[in-house]
Amino acid sequence: NISAYPNAGLPNEFGEYDQTPEEMKVFIRDFIESGFVNIIGGCCGTTPLHIKAMAEAVKGMKPRTKPTAIPVTAYAGLEPLMVRENLNFINVGERTNVTGSRKFSRLIKEKNYTEALTIAQQQVDGGAQVIDVNMDEGLLDSEKEMETFLNMMMSEPDIAKLPIMIDSSKFSVIEAGLKCVQGKCIVNSISLKEGDEEFIRQANLVRKYGAAAVVMAFDEKGQAETIDRKVNICQRAYDILVNHVGFLPEDIIFDPNIFAVATGIEEHNEYAINFIEATRKIKEACPGAKISGGVSNISFSFRGNNKVREAMHAAFLYHAIQAGMDMGIVNAGMMEVYAEVDKPLLKLVEDVLFNRSSDATDALITYAETVKGKGKELVKDLSWRNDTVENRLSHSLVRGITEFIEEDTEEARLKYPNPLSVIEGPLMDGMNIVGDLFGEGKMFLPQVVKSARVMKRSVAVLTPFIEEEKSISGSSSKGKILLATVKGDVHDIGKNIVGVVLGCNNFEIIDLGVMVPAEKILKVALEENVNIIGLSGLITPSLDEMVTVAKEMTRRKMNIPLLIGGATTSKTHTALKIEPEYTGAAIHVLDASRAVTVASTLLGADTNASSNYILGVKKDYNDLREKRARSGGKTKKLIPLDLARQSKYNINWETYIPPKPNFLGVKKLSLDIEELIPYIDWTPFFTTWQLKGRFPDIFKNPFVGIEAKKLFDDAQEMLQTIKNEKWLGTAAIVGVFPAKSSKDDIIIENNGEKIVSHHLRQQVKKAKGKSYLCLSDFIAPENSTQQDYIGAFAVTAGLGIEKYVALFEEKHDDYNAILLKALADRLAEALAEKTHEIIRKELWGYAPNENLLNEDLIKEKYRGIRPAPGYPACPEHTEKDLLWKLLNVEKEIGIKLTSSRAMYPAASVSGWYFSHPDSKYFGISHIGADQLKDYSHRKSWTSSEAEKWLARHIE
Ligand code: SAH
Repeated sequence: NISAYPNAGLPNEFGEYDQTPEEMKVFIRDFIESGFVNIIGGCCGTTPLHIKAMAEAVKGMKPRTKPTAIPVTAYAGLEPLMVRENLNFINVGERTNVTGSRKFSRLIKEKNYTEALTIAQQQVDGGAQVIDVNMDEGLLDSEKEMETFLNMMMSEPDIAKLPIMIDSSKFSVIEAGLKCVQGKCIVNSISLKEGDEEFIRQANLVRKYGAAAVVMAFDEKGQAETIDRKVNICQRAYDILVNHVGFLPEDIIFDPNIFAVATGIEEHNEYAINFIEATRKIKEACPGAKISGGVSNISFSFRGNNKVREAMHAAFLYHAIQAGMDMGIVNAGMMEVYAEVDKPLLKLVEDVLFNRSSDATDALITYAETVKGKGKELVKDLSWRNDTVENRLSHSLVRGITEFIEEDTEEARLKYPNPLSVIEGPLMDGMNIVGDLFGEGKMFLPQVVKSARVMKRSVAVLTPFIEEEKSISGSSSKGKILLATVKGDVHDIGKNIVGVVLGCNNFEIIDLGVMVPAEKILKVALEENVNIIGLSGLITPSLDEMVTVAKEMTRRKMNIPLLIGGATTSKTHTALKIEPEYTGAAIHVLDASRAVTVASTLLGADTNASSNYILGVKKDYNDLREKRARSGGKTKKLIPLDLARQSKYNINWETYIPPKPNFLGVKKLSLDIEELIPYIDWTPFFTTWQLKGRFPDIFKNPFVGIEAKKLFDDAQEMLQTIKNEKWLGTAAIVGVFPAKSSKDDIIIENNGEKIVSHHLRQQVKKAKGKSYLCLSDFIAPENSTQQDYIGAFAVTAGLGIEKYVALFEEKHDDYNAILLKALADRLAEALAEKTHEIIRKELWGYAPNENLLNEDLIKEKYRGIRPAPGYPACPEHTEKDLLWKLLNVEKEIGIKLTSSRAMYPAASVSGWYFSHPDSKYFGISHIGADQLKDYSHRKSWTSSEAEKWLARHIE
């Protein structure tokens, strides 16, 4: 029990002590009487009188007898790991080793530490109790990598809770690591291979850092292979460590060398026995010391055959542990249990390990051929294949398995009276389960999209037969829905997802793709007699396009529901601007899962429910409009533009000297996909798939973690293909130009020509003293003597994507089509990040020594910003025209601007660079009539143009 008695000796504000020495004495006595044994006294304000009182209070009591410590082996990360007799065996996770794991090695080379950390995390999750870290690779700066990676591990409490095994054959790398870890780690390894002196030096250092050490059974003559040499070397090392260096026996771990057996070389056949026997003897000869070893070495001859390897590891460990082995470096999480190894295999394995017969190796090799590649992770449970065809179809749909869908569909087709009844029967039943599970949040979007892929493949098998029988008319579809991204807009990931989800729920989808003019939408809608039109848009001008469609529907006296969705849309805009233009129902739909409910209600059998729903929405939107009208259309309080300008963000341009760029003009940069991968920000990737959570923690999320990981693995695989087969062309162009600000404009100088970039200023009323920001505030004004600059960029990672998307769509594979688009988006953002870094460090060069980790880049911790037209600080899209002109973007790198100034390919990013350390992102939000007029004037716009480009910002 620990109790604290505060403020005993501190005088209060009147100079009196809270506690007189006398009172304190009584208090301490109370403590003693209530059973506290150790009293520690002291305080910054304690007076000699108080100390005397303390002494008196404990007078006559015996000082504490120090307990003698029982020797116990203990290591520690944030949490201790005590090696007790009953603890069995300690798993040391081996995957964070550049020589042992190709994946880890690649990640370190790519400096993708975040992802590399997930490997450490997997080891923790797999049951590792210690994590081995090894960076010994010729091309790596091993000291630096060790330091960087360990430091990152140390800031992940879930990993840092474990002790670390710093693994290197170079002592300088070990020392670099020792400086980073907390707790009591293990050094792996030191040995006598360079003689006593060096061994003692290293051992002393290990002690100084308070670590334990693995001592390899090596000496000046090399590695010990026989039992005798193993034991002798370990004894010699033990003697030096314990008697000369003062090492505690409990801190010594011997590694008597595990070597591969079954190599075909006769003397290797004894290696397992030698290790096991040496273990027994070393444990006797060196009391207190522990035994460890790298387990996977034993099965090295069976690389590629996980099933045999795991059986060998299980059997070897089983016997070595009995002989006294305390810990081993293993692939935690992939360990087979001895009792569960197939008996015939176990016998063959043990024959090899114990060298029981001269043909043991051959027998195991012969057996191994028959189980090749069937490692633990690869074993699939195929018992469901014995079920009825209906259940098999359902199983494939729910699990998204495409492997058997064609054969099962064919079987069902032959069984059912006609092909259509297969769709209406077992397939729809399966999809209903998928729909329900998604609705209940038990399935996630990537799974649903995979289910849809199975469904489409199955339908593709049936379609030719249905057409033959001309039985289409009896289709049981819940209704036809036309989907389109409006004219001028190119984004369709969200729309495609909505299509897939609706398709899964038995709606027939007609997807017209992107950049679809109103004319075409309405023509197809009438021809196909669709029941609903769904419009999608990502950028502001698309809102205007949607209004156009609504007006046109009214003119043509259409009455089907119009659904509105996409990032730029909102309920308010739909209520205020779209619905009043349409005589039918215009309904804003938030996301894919809502789309199903809304469409089901609208087209459901219960027509009452449908009309009630429409009336409800109309009333809701009407209320919203009335509320607006009552507040005079203004929900936000704005200040006049000239006042806002007076309260601009103030930079002292007398004292600040803008950095002079190393480079002026325009430059194309060429970067490989390979270089971009480490710059990818994965969190938005999961958002695209409606999986909520930050990368990489998302994998630990109990709800979405597993699906997120699967999706991520698929993404990694596709990224490799994108890279190897050059699926995506990337291109980047940047420029740096002299610039000055003039009120809310920025005047850019390019080859003697002046180009004016127009900006908006915040007007929504803020607290007193706050500035009303405009991007021009971050550039030196024309009346300043300082020469300032601005940068511009446009990058794309989507060149040539159409071909591959089409290939996937042909194969009814929405999953991969969406995955590819989502990855192209990620690569474009990564390219923007990388390009920005080159600007800061080299071309503009105002931060040559910047050295940020990927995650800090993602958090944009660097100096300067790259605001993108269409985003909150510069929401007006036509300003992209200037970027295109300055950089000659379309001609140089092939990104086009649509009529609404969306970039095509969609996986593109463009914007401005600001270098001032104070420059930051903000939102313009609403602007007043005065600014609308001012801006329209500066841009020479008509009022309808202003309405189109600033729709979301006008009160
Ligand atoms: N790492 C993210 C980066 C994109 S979002 C990803 O991979 O998706 C951040 C970018 O959006 C910024 O770099 C900037 O170009 C733009 N941006 C964000 N907020 C902005 C704002 N308020 N005004 C202008 N541009 C903004």
